[in-house]
Amino acid sequence: MARLVRDFINILCLKEGMIVNMKALRKIKDEVGAEFQDIPIPKIGPTDLLIKVKATALCKSDIDVYNWTTVVQNLKLPLPVTMGHEFLGEVVDIGEVVKGFNIGDHVVGETHIPCGYCYACKTGKSHICVNNMGVLGRSVDGSFAEFIRLPAVSAIKVDNSMPPSHGAIMEPLATAVHATTKADVAGKTVAILGCGTIGLMNVEIAKILGATKVIAVSRTQAKLDKAHELGADLIINNKSDNMVGAVIENTHGIGVDVIIDYTGDIKVINDSVDMLKVGGKCVYVGMIDYPLIFEKFMVRVVYKELVLTGIFGREIYNTWTILDNILESKRINLENYIADEVPLRDIDKWIDKASKLTGRVILYPDFN
Ligand SMILES: [Zn+2]
Ligand SMILES: [Zn+2]
Repeated sequence: MARLVRDFINILCLKEGMIVNMKALRKIKDEVGAEFQDIPIPKIGPTDLLIKVKATALCKSDIDVYNWTTVVQNLKLPLPVTMGHEFLGEVVDIGEVVKGFNIGDHVVGETHIPCGYCYACKTGKSHICVNNMGVLGRSVDGSFAEFIRLPAVSAIKVDNSMPPSHGAIMEPLATAVHATTKADVAGKTVAILGCGTIGLMNVEIAKILGATKVIAVSRTQAKLDKAHELGADLIINNKSDNMVGAVIENTHGIGVDVIIDYTGDIKVINDSVDMLKVGGKCVYVGMIDYPLIFEKFMVRVVYKELVLTGIFGREIYNTWTILDNILESKRINLENYIADEVPLRDIDKWIDKASKLTGRVILYPDFN
């Protein structure tokens, strides 16, 4: 209750033009780590929403930002920046030209913030806007804070009855939906390489969207067991088993129609094309921070007429509409994708642990 009163007073003070502080986890320097700071609650512009963050999730890419990995170093991020991008929150203030949102609405964040004017934006590809697209938690202040400013174009309304922990994993779930629709899986055999949270989500989404056989591949048995539980028809441990041999054997000797790669691993990527059917398609989602070399490219790709493509984020708003339909079908138990729920202030303890867990760690920005 005290927290509610404090939030109410904060918003009132903001409206009066007073500076009110909040806690936020910020990446300050180009080195490992991040720190909590007291910074002003963001002021919104005419096209923005101010959102009180109710729950936020710890993604592998946040861990990359925290650990300042080479993939992040190469992005030349403008520091300092508030980290975090997967969240559910409540709208507490609305920019003057925004339509379609009300105070009290619950929203989740679409991490990509398109410009709305460039060629990509004007041709249905605003999720890969080519005009300095904002990315929450990287180039734009993110959700590891008590409040976030979000352009309304990147706010996705959800039902107010959705638990905040479920809302916090909508963005990765939508990524799995996008990978699956790009792969066009209906009536097809699919191999999903890598069973991190989004890979696992992809196993279930692929089944829902009509894949006839889903093969999950991972080096971690616990993640494979989870994939099996979520509907994978076949699981392959590529630490101990021969991935290509097992897939060929289980696809009448011709390979799978589609591969969705979450590993970003050069050996897995090279090997995997040997278990893809002639004319098959590979969708790359996993991050790769090195020059990828394709061995035997002519034999593996050109002569087989493979289709190689990637996905980045989620189509605005096609993917989100499909996700809505899937949620409405009630075929997904989102609890499967939640590993733990902890205070945001304890985040340091979870940076190393999180990637070993099955599912996301949900963080609550409660500092009282
Ligand atoms: Zn993420
Ligand atoms: Zn644009």
